[in-house]
Amino acid sequence: MEPKLVTVCTYEHPVQAEVAKFALEAEGLTAFVADAEFVTNMFLGVSAAGGVKLQVPESDVPAAMALLAANPSLANPSADRPADDGVPRCLSCGATMPAEATACPACGWSYLDGAKPEDAEG
Ligand SMILES: [Zn+2]
Repeated sequence: MEPKLVTVCTYEHPVQAEVAKFALEAEGLTAFVADAEFVTNMFLGVSAAGGVKLQVPESDVPAAMALLAANPSLANPSADRPADDGVPRCLSCGATMPAEATACPACGWSYLDGAKPEDAEG
């Protein structure tokens, strides 16, 4: 039986959804990222696909929502930057990151901290 999946958050960038997914999994929850393949070209600055969905089984929704609520940077990593600039930002401190960089020049946060290394570069 497939569990019913519920979208608990939507992200502009696949990596944002992956970071949140890993955060949920670190809490023992099950999480899925939907539509990630479809919007992979968002890394190129294209923003037209409607975002990447973070989904959890229905039974995990309350815990997932609570975790996201406790971590606004996971729930809405784009909130503190202009929505249309298309510039990659550090998910930790918000500093602008070079498009090809995997680590933040300001604080050292790395995409690789929250994503599988084989997914970091296509
Ligand atoms: Zn940073």
